[in-house]
Amino acid sequence: MLQQKYDTILEKIIKETGLTKPEIESRIRAKLRELQDLISQEGAAHIVANELKVKLFEQGKPQEYTIKEIQQRTYGVKLTAKILNKFDVRVFTKNGQEHRVFSLIIGDSTGRVRLTIWDELVIDQCILFPEGTVITIENGYTRENNGFFELHVGSKAKITKEDKELDLAPKKRLKDVAENEFLDTYATVVDMFEPRYYDACPECNRKVNMENGDYFCQNHKKVLPQKTPIINLVIDDGTDVMRVVCFRDVAEKIINDKPFQELKQNLNGSDMKFKGRVVFNSMSGRKELRANIVEEANPEELLQQV
Ligand SMILES: [Zn+2]
Repeated sequence: MLQQKYDTILEKIIKETGLTKPEIESRIRAKLRELQDLISQEGAAHIVANELKVKLFEQGKPQEYTIKEIQQRTYGVKLTAKILNKFDVRVFTKNGQEHRVFSLIIGDSTGRVRLTIWDELVIDQCILFPEGTVITIENGYTRENNGFFELHVGSKAKITKEDKELDLAPKKRLKDVAENEFLDTYATVVDMFEPRYYDACPECNRKVNMENGDYFCQNHKKVLPQKTPIINLVIDDGTDVMRVVCFRDVAEKIINDKPFQELKQNLNGSDMKFKGRVVFNSMSGRKELRANIVEEANPEELLQQV
């Protein structure tokens, strides 16, 4: 696997450039600031090494990966996959500057993964690809998000449209889906709980802590929190029953400013499409779905699944 620890990268740079450790570390810190902490320390060290023309890996054909193979820290990922879902482009402000980030779900014969694009030019290019397009991603890197690995691409990455078909891993049902796997299924809403709200960081949506009347995010220090909803549903797809947790945008879309009783009446018994990651909830001792997408059922697809 193409992964190297921070110290290993640092040693290689020292050996090949003759720069001192403090000099290199100050460059890495500058790079982290420049990229506004969107990358890890290893990622920054990697970029600094590239800028100093230090080869961290043996040159040759870039290694091709499958989605299953990138469920750990990996750099220089080349991967061919199909676009399964596009999310809305999100705009966020960091240090007074506006940035865009674009996420998609992509899949291949081994699984499905979230792809997150931070580069403006690559975003402009990928927005135009319809769902179903097969793409090759070069120079991606994985990043952990709430215990899951996602594929990220920045300005060093390249995405190319492929003129070919790609077989996907078969969709799993509730009974078969394992922890950490991506679920994409139709199911009936059998119960719904009243939405709860928590104080979240407006930039990364993590829960914030209050200290002396101010709110602090682990990543973004002092912030003005946003009230962010969570909804729990229970779904049944005919094979099993599972709790679904819907955060922020997904929850807001479901709530749609409607009172809870009306929502519950409308939703209970309705067939909907659910996509997201299955996690193990240690409190309940059961698997649950963290939904990325909850949408109305398409009657034709629904028939196919049944
Ligand atoms: Zn934050």
